[in-house]
Amino acid sequence: MADLRDLYQEVILEHSKQPRNYRALEAANHRAEGYNPLCGDRFTVFLRMEGEAIRDISFQGSGCAISKASASMMTQALKGKSRQDAERLFGKFHDLVTGHAPAGAEDLGKLAVFSGVSEFPVRVKCATLAWHTLQAAMEGKQEAVSTE
Ligand code: ZN
Repeated sequence: MADLRDLYQEVILEHSKQPRNYRALEAANHRAEGYNPLCGDRFTVFLRMEGEAIRDISFQGSGCAISKASASMMTQALKGKSRQDAERLFGKFHDLVTGHAPAGAEDLGKLAVFSGVSEFPVRVKCATLAWHTLQAAMEGKQEAVSTE
């Protein structure tokens, strides 16, 4: 499985160097800030929601390669999806990175590259920060979320 692991690392590094949807969203009607004090990762997630649909999604901030790649791939995975899809995907992603994914997590698509995170518990908060922040943005919470 060494080759697969290298490939996964490559994908994560590539996304952290060139994050997708990395910008402030002018037309955002939901936003939230997230902070992971354990690592220093700090992101703002911007959403343009129409009813329950995520019409556009972006993020900005700074953090380690895992947190940034996770935010980047999250925005790619969720653009055009519903709030319900987002909640479901977060559930599956959380199971994956905490090592609780049932065999056959293939419907996570590209997000499966984060499976190795489950071997490094301290990195779980890096991988899930953007998702927790997304959840706060969808719920319209005003205060910043912290993983602590
Ligand atoms: Zn981190």
